[in-house]
Amino acid sequence: MEEIKKYIRDVPDFPKPGILFKDITPLLQHQETFRRVIDLFSKRYEGKGIDRVAGIESRGFVFASVLAYVLKKSLVLVRKTGKLPWKKVSETYDLEYGTDTIQMHEDAVSKGDRVLLVDDLLATGGTSKAACQLIEKMGGKVLECAFVVELEFLKGREKLRGVEAFSLVKF
Ligand code: AMP
Repeated sequence: MEEIKKYIRDVPDFPKPGILFKDITPLLQHQETFRRVIDLFSKRYEGKGIDRVAGIESRGFVFASVLAYVLKKSLVLVRKTGKLPWKKVSETYDLEYGTDTIQMHEDAVSKGDRVLLVDDLLATGGTSKAACQLIEKMGGKVLECAFVVELEFLKGREKLRGVEAFSLVKF
């Protein structure tokens, strides 16, 4: 995991002052490490009865789509509001200041689907929790949430209550 950590770049004060942004683009540029991340995820989830892999916009798409391909499962896009063209379901969640909304097409998950949720990073857990609620609204079951990076001090996994969180690298 130290190997993976080396390819996560700290960018102070992005997107606003006081935030230390964990940039995963060096990891994507280093093909061995990118493959290692996907291999670790696929080993963990192979044969676990997953029907769909859901990725959270936008860095979550990168990992979710490759993982869906490798696991031979379908891919679900969880997007920020206003991006999806068809009939949608929405979930609004609290941010530090104000709220945000994520959406999914209403046919993206069917009743009884077993879904793996994927994002690049778990911070406060607000986004992933809202995504889990969307999937559950459609009758799906979230088997686990998988992240490349977890910012443990923000206690995001506590917010996910009832859904397991798995991360490769912790800060
Ligand atoms: P949260 O809802 O607080 O768990 O935030 C998770 C989402 O925001 C993920 O999609 C991350 O990509 C992004 N995010 C939050 N904090 C950071 C950070 N410090 N560095 C990089 N991405 C972040």
